[in-house]
Amino acid sequence: MVVTKVFRVDPAKPSVDAVRYAARVIRDGGLVAFPTETVYGLGANAFNAKAVERIYVAKGRPLDNPIIVHICDFSQLELVASRIPEDAYRLAERLWPGPLTLLLPRDPRIPYVVTAGLETVAVRMPAHPVALELIREANVPVAAPSANLSGKPSPTRGDHVVEDLYSRVEVILDAGETLYGVESTIINLLSDPPMLLRPGAYTVEDIERILGRSIAVPEFARGLGEAEKALAPGMKHRHYAPNTPLILVEAEDYGELQRLLDATRRAVLDYKMRGFKVAVISYAETYKHYEGIADSVLVVGSRGNIYEVARNLFATLRTLDKLNVDVAIMEGVEDKGLGLAVMNRVRKASTSRIKA
Ligand code: AMP
Ligand code: MG
Repeated sequence: MVVTKVFRVDPAKPSVDAVRYAARVIRDGGLVAFPTETVYGLGANAFNAKAVERIYVAKGRPLDNPIIVHICDFSQLELVASRIPEDAYRLAERLWPGPLTLLLPRDPRIPYVVTAGLETVAVRMPAHPVALELIREANVPVAAPSANLSGKPSPTRGDHVVEDLYSRVEVILDAGETLYGVESTIINLLSDPPMLLRPGAYTVEDIERILGRSIAVPEFARGLGEAEKALAPGMKHRHYAPNTPLILVEAEDYGELQRLLDATRRAVLDYKMRGFKVAVISYAETYKHYEGIADSVLVVGSRGNIYEVARNLFATLRTLDKLNVDVAIMEGVEDKGLGLAVMNRVRKASTSRIKA
């Protein structure tokens, strides 16, 4: 048991006292949960192996799942990576601070517990005033995975962090809701062509435009198949999952939405007939389709606004577990643009998938 202090902070202008206190905790080897523009992170001094070990314990995270190192400026980049390819500068200059994580060669200062024994380190500069101030004040790079219990939906609000990590970490900085609601995009620049390891808040199209060439998008980045261990450790573990079994209905062609709605409705009726309590996760345009047949209907956002869907996704999965239904059925979205990040998360969270 750890005594947890929760500070409510203004996301734009955080209290200097709260950030100083949290930075001191990081320097002393403690754990601090903090907001970023993607999801909340659980941070420790990236140079302190013992402190980073505590992250794995607090989250119940498998030890073979490496952790992203967060930096506040380019001088810290040179402390954590031993070589920085041209493409890394090209992307970082345009997209940092922001939701982009780059895989680079590890500097020996970064202990193996951060990289799960790999010679590569994943690095990003977050675009959130609280995160940047915390790292600057701590004056060390901060290793931070998402601030949830391992396997659970990632936290997009301070109260999600409190729910999962209260009495497991020293400090929680609560700055309300995060902006994107899905994690950063992870790119491996050490392969040729560069490879997407995890789709995230920046789209593949954004990154290709800046690089001026295509990047490889393997099946596992779509949330399909299994990740090869050497390429994307940790990605083989089940992720983002609510306790409620989740069935994802995907369309062959999202231009023919009616087929998807009919298949989802049939799945609802099928479970109802077998005596289950059923929730549906749908959209502003489609939720009426299930009224009167499902026990609960959750709206994750509008089909016309994928940013809204991404922002609400993890909170909706957490709400689902509070409904006490036996099963949930969710309509998919097209896995293009930010939809790729959404579908990667939902596929990994689902217990089975239906093709409409
Ligand atoms: P999380 O911050 O909990 O969303 O997890 C961070 C993810 O970054 C992990 O699941 C890994 O797949 C990925 N990652 C971090 N470091 C590395 C690395 N050195 N090589 C490959 N993937 C990494
Ligand atoms: Mg995570």
